Amino acid sequence: MTDKDMRRSIDTLLVHDERHSKGAVAPPIYQTSLFTFDSYQAMVDRFRGETDHAVYSRIDNPTVSVLLEKICLLEGGEKALAFSSGIAAISNAILGLVKTGDRVVCVKHCYPDTYRLLQVICARFGVTTEFVDGTDLFAIENALPGAKLLFLESPTTLLFEEQDLTSIAALAKAADVTTIIDNSWATPIFQQPLKSGIDLVVHSASKYISGHSDTVAGLLVGNGSLIDKLVNETTPYLGAKLSASEAALLLRGLRTLPLRLQRHQESALIIAKRISDHPTVTAVHHPGLSPAPCSLLSGYGGLFSFEVDNSINIPAFCNSLDLFRLGVSWGGYESLIMPAEISINQAGSPSAAIDFGVPTRLIRLFVGLEDPEDLWQDLHAALASALSSETSNA
Ligand SMILES: *Cc1c(COP(=O)(O)O)cnc(C)c1O
Repeated sequence: MTDKDMRRSIDTLLVHDERHSKGAVAPPIYQTSLFTFDSYQAMVDRFRGETDHAVYSRIDNPTVSVLLEKICLLEGGEKALAFSSGIAAISNAILGLVKTGDRVVCVKHCYPDTYRLLQVICARFGVTTEFVDGTDLFAIENALPGAKLLFLESPTTLLFEEQDLTSIAALAKAADVTTIIDNSWATPIFQQPLKSGIDLVVHSASKYISGHSDTVAGLLVGNGSLIDKLVNETTPYLGAKLSASEAALLLRGLRTLPLRLQRHQESALIIAKRISDHPTVTAVHHPGLSPAPCSLLSGYGGLFSFEVDNSINIPAFCNSLDLFRLGVSWGGYESLIMPAEISINQAGSPSAAIDFGVPTRLIRLFVGLEDPEDLWQDLHAALASALSSETSNA
């Protein structure tokens, strides 16, 4: 980054890539597995780490490198890595930083596959995890001594609880515990945890960063020596790299990220406020409706959840919707609905033994880029038609 870049806002930097060959406005997609060297000495120099000549696309690729520069700029990180999925970014970071006998502390109500990774895979290698209430600073403080890693997600998946990241980062530093946060919900546009002292940030780039529901990808960004440790000891041997063509899709998504988030935020706030006034709705979980005093969020995006009373037949409600479609994931252009009871109770999966502590009458909404009035009409009509017959006859 040049001094001139440092003075410019993120919105400007996101739509101005460095100049590419032949005047291309978008970075070229280096669709190649390997990169050849002009001389024996050039190859020796690269293997000694004296040049940054690309070697092999499992390790480095110039299209991916453009993406990594952008995410460092956005999050204020020193170095970054790109992965084939968000969970690959999470598993590479965790597996690369722990060894047998270590203890991890993780916030409750995090992304369910992060739970499963810690509870099932890490446990198999003798790494234990203590799940704590992320809203309870004392609980975190008490769990830290002797732990290796603290895994945060603020706000959390499904219940959208925030953690006091500034205080937690200071406590973890004092206890010599490495901190990782899943920042997929807020994106660096609304929250930059590295600036509050968190060590590493992970993203499911499949969500807002892609923004078009056509890519599965992950990013890891933050402290340079931790990233170097992962590159030297772990990530090349787990091999979950991002392809050049998908990196180009993420670069495309980043150009409109601030604009899209603004629209998601406005529409979701309209809908969250209206739905909280609905007589069948018992709770709305949206960080913007009752901001936590410790919040670092400067905005909210389109994902939140609500709970309905027993007068609503949840399957009938989902089936009556026209614009909100049933599906996992979020962060694209289209509105989605996900009832918690389906995602948590996967029969036969190891998660059957895990208490996620999420209310079963909770429904997650992702408010897309459609007109919010159309979306509200859809929800309002579906709630009316899903009133169970007993109640509607009464
Ligand atoms: C989707 C998601 C992930 C996992 O990302 P993938 O790209 O699907 O592997 C991790 N954390 C959060 C909060 C998510 O929503």
